Amino acid sequence: MRKSYVTHLECSMTGAVYPAGQVHGLSEAGRPLLVRYDLAALAADWSRVDLAASKAPGFWRYAPLLPVAEPANRVSLGEVMTPIVALDRLARRIGARPGRLLVKDEGRLPTGSFKARGLALAVSMARELGIAHLAIPTNGNAGAAMAAYAARAGLRATVLCPDDTPDINIREIAAQGADTWLVNGLINDCGRIVGAGKAATGWFDVSTLKEPYRIEGKKTMGLELAEQLGWELPDAIFYPTGGGTGLIGMWKAFNELEALGWIGPERPRMFAVQATGCAPIVRAWETGAEHAALWQNAQTVAAGIRVPVAVGDFLILRAVRQSGGAAMAVSDRDIMAMRDDVAREEGLLLCPEGAATAVACAQARADGLVGPDDRIVLWNCATGLKYPMPPVTNRLDKDAAVDFTVLGGKPHAGAV
Ligand SMILES: *Cc1c(COP(=O)(O)O)cnc(C)c1O
Repeated sequence: MRKSYVTHLECSMTGAVYPAGQVHGLSEAGRPLLVRYDLAALAADWSRVDLAASKAPGFWRYAPLLPVAEPANRVSLGEVMTPIVALDRLARRIGARPGRLLVKDEGRLPTGSFKARGLALAVSMARELGIAHLAIPTNGNAGAAMAAYAARAGLRATVLCPDDTPDINIREIAAQGADTWLVNGLINDCGRIVGAGKAATGWFDVSTLKEPYRIEGKKTMGLELAEQLGWELPDAIFYPTGGGTGLIGMWKAFNELEALGWIGPERPRMFAVQATGCAPIVRAWETGAEHAALWQNAQTVAAGIRVPVAVGDFLILRAVRQSGGAAMAVSDRDIMAMRDDVAREEGLLLCPEGAATAVACAQARADGLVGPDDRIVLWNCATGLKYPMPPVTNRLDKDAAVDFTVLGGKPHAGAV
């Protein structure tokens, strides 16, 4: 096999071609660059049987379809293939088929979110291309993943986050060695500062879709899902959409798998899920626009999808439209109620963004956008453990007589 099957990079808007092996940010048109591979050659050299025999950890099993040429440049923290967990009680409740309503639980990855996929690739490519200092705007998880992988690779990391980012994320980022700064604004304000500082600091801008390799990492969600489902894609995918890297990445993965001859032309309906307090993609989808205007005063408990403007907006909208899916907004109240219900009934603690996909799915089922027998995949993008949970106030006095009729009686919720 060749070391790398990358042929070139391509502007996602104009198709302009850029050479591989050089440092790239956005295209001249100011749009994301996509990595292109010699898929015909790869199809001749690599098969699903070869893949099944791979011993590489987690998403590195897809290395032939990734841009890192030198295995020594792979930066790894023990990635795993994330499990698919069926939510049968929720399925019954919303009129879906038990066994066919599935959660892809990305909270099991290093740093507890699927940002690990993208940042592992971005940091590995930074090492391959000789970049020494990385900077990123973040709502928390991307910064944490970048900090961790940069520390692992021995690269310098600077992270800017909104000053209302959950404290646990901020501390995690700093603990993993990044210079960490709080900004009195939103993620796009942080992004502006990162962009403006490039010349003065020499850092490389790792913002969502402003460098070409995070999407290649996120693409592995589509590859992994296809492999886990026996190369038969689901009928519908619900994806919590911020910058949209994952949705665009999965769409790219499916197209590459088809070019390899590993799957057919069928595609899942792609549902982009946002919060009603920050829904630029939903608004553009509803009005038929190709691009999404900036969302003012963005607000939601689901911090990972509080992204007021996305440079890859047209790519998200294209995938949603081509697939026959939809863009949907759900309320914070429904998100938190769903998070609590699923944890209590199914034992799976979703993050709010993941819970948002379950709310959207229930709504789509009620509206007939998905059928009763459809195989559905919800994306739980991060561990629920990084988010606040309802308090527990039940107390027992070890020195007093315990009234077991109370303990053994009606089940007690945590908060009474
Ligand atoms: C980043 C993030 C998202 C959004 O992912 P994109 O692919 O950038 O749209 C959703 N949820 C969580 C928890 C995240 O960290």
